[in-house]
Amino acid sequence: MKAKSIEHIGIAVENLEESIVYYTEVLGLTCYAIEEVADQKVRTAFFKIGNTKIELLESTDPNGPIGKFIDKKGPGIHHIAFAVEKVQEALNEAQAKGVQLIDKQARLGAENLKIGFLHPKSTGGVLTEFCGEE
Ligand code: ZN
Repeated sequence: MKAKSIEHIGIAVENLEESIVYYTEVLGLTCYAIEEVADQKVRTAFFKIGNTKIELLESTDPNGPIGKFIDKKGPGIHHIAFAVEKVQEALNEAQAKGVQLIDKQARLGAENLKIGFLHPKSTGGVLTEFCGEE
């Protein structure tokens, strides 16, 4: 397995609409999608920048992963997503190399992409997502 690129950077925010203003007004980016991912208890906003994206994440439930994260650490960078060819294979391969997985099974994330998370304990403290079309 070889990570192809940084697919996106996930940033936890307290308020999606307020945060979008910074990315559009200060950085001059365009928000091209706002999407709720019920499974992860978040609303997301996406911006393209070069070949990668910024994904803003607002919690829809204080007990969801982003709600808990903001509670503990406050808003800020939440995860880095690497584009991979096949998400399930990449997860299996990482696990075989001793990486602790959050998702043993690839699941559907925002933008209809397959995703799976690796545990930050195994990745130097960086919550890591694999992301791909398969
Ligand atoms: Zn993500």
